[in-house]
Amino acid sequence: MPRILILRIGHRPQRDKRVTTHVALSSRALGASAIYVDTEDGVLEENVRSVTERFGGDFEIKTGVQWKSMLKDFDGEVVHLTMYGQRIDEALPKIARDKDMMIVVGAEKVPPEVYRAADHNISVGNQPHSEIAALAIFLDRFTDGKNLYSDRDGLVTVIPNERGKTVAEKHT
Ligand code: SAM
Repeated sequence: MPRILILRIGHRPQRDKRVTTHVALSSRALGASAIYVDTEDGVLEENVRSVTERFGGDFEIKTGVQWKSMLKDFDGEVVHLTMYGQRIDEALPKIARDKDMMIVVGAEKVPPEVYRAADHNISVGNQPHSEIAALAIFLDRFTDGKNLYSDRDGLVTVIPNERGKTVAEKHT
């Protein structure tokens, strides 16, 4: 099955720690297989791995990557999420479904070469908001919501419940 990979560029460990953690967790929850972050950040790696260990799945995180060569060498579709891009509803049918996809999100201003390297520059609305919101909406639409409740075979599984909290724990 084609994989969805996330590339987060412009990460500043002190300033962006919560946002990038939430970019990673939202990506994982909504069906991505991995996140690559341009700045090395051991704490971020540890936090995201700890969630994956408890809640399951095979989500990978790697920080300190060279984003330029990663984009250049990537064999698949590169999607860049930006408020300047084409409309998400018009872009979605143009994305190949039989190839891996790398989705790029920024933190601050994104360099022009990302716009050039992308196969698709896509907006999630034409207002400025957040990389977390943009990714979550894009992934949910691209996958038709199929990953929201998919089984991750974790040590901990939350069982949907109208009231209260139901959690199943696997004892090893
Ligand atoms: N001012 C920055 C720029 O001009 O590139 C954007 C900063 S924004 C806080 C961080 C990231 O959120 C962007 O790089 C983009 O990936 C994402 N983003 C924000 N609003 C978006 C929108 N309407 N559609 C798609 N992505 C968006």
